[in-house]
Amino acid sequence: MSASKVIGVDVGGTKILAGVVDADGNVFEKVQIPSPTASSEALLAGIDQVIMDLLSEEIAAIGIGIPASIDQRSGVVLSSVNLPLQGLHFRQRMSERFELPVGIDNDANVAAIGEWKAGVGRGTSDLVMLTLGTGVGGGLILGGKPYRGSVGAGAELGHMVILHNGPPCYGDCSGHGHLEAFASGHAAAIAARDQLGPDVDSRKLVELGKSGDERALALLHRIGDHLGSALGSMVNIFNPELIVIGGGFAAAGEFILAPARERMVVESLDGLGDMTRVVAAELGSNAGMIGAGFVAFEALESAAATP
Ligand SMILES: [Zn+2]
Repeated sequence: MSASKVIGVDVGGTKILAGVVDADGNVFEKVQIPSPTASSEALLAGIDQVIMDLLSEEIAAIGIGIPASIDQRSGVVLSSVNLPLQGLHFRQRMSERFELPVGIDNDANVAAIGEWKAGVGRGTSDLVMLTLGTGVGGGLILGGKPYRGSVGAGAELGHMVILHNGPPCYGDCSGHGHLEAFASGHAAAIAARDQLGPDVDSRKLVELGKSGDERALALLHRIGDHLGSALGSMVNIFNPELIVIGGGFAAAGEFILAPARERMVVESLDGLGDMTRVVAAELGSNAGMIGAGFVAFEALESAAATP
């Protein structure tokens, strides 16, 4: 690999963060704008803008993480809950626009790739990542490479059933009892409002926990306990070396991670849970952008391999 650089773009429901990234995950320059969500044209114009702000001679490829499931064969967005991207030939549109190799991936996948290559997962080859935000995103690194499923839409770990026929999931998801309905920041905010008062959101819930509020601690414990059920299943299925918990609600830290580990050990087969480390993510809000940079390098490599 030459010393070239790429642009990594993390498209979120509220902001677009982009940066110039090298092959080691170092970030050189960053730009951030609020996500224009009025229409897909406005959103694409916003993504174009951050890329143009960073574009230079040394940029060899572009990687973009979006909160959507993607058909990696065609580069078409299959479904997108929070942003108007569904049905777009997104990869083709971006590579034609900038005349560079473009890689696209789900936002939680790019966060997992970022933490694996440049964050807390460095040196591991089997890693599960969950991002606890508005929803619960999932990313898998298996056998030393990102696992994306048959068409590239896999690793939606937040939509794992942890309670048969449980409460409805959020957004467009028709499922019930999914992890997202128990352990997302949104789920935490709803439970906090119900149990602790109308102005308690997920952030306030964590603050109350830090101040020792018994009811807040009990609620955080319960959320962590549910999270642990999902972690137990993931240990049994994937036998990962490391489980990384990121996203905004990961700010709850050990208030949820400690009960999650306990439950994980109970639910996982003998000995497997004890050998699995559960840790907080390290790269914070840069994980997606840095991971998108690595996805750009992947696109560059496959472009070089295709005559
Ligand atoms: Zn769901």
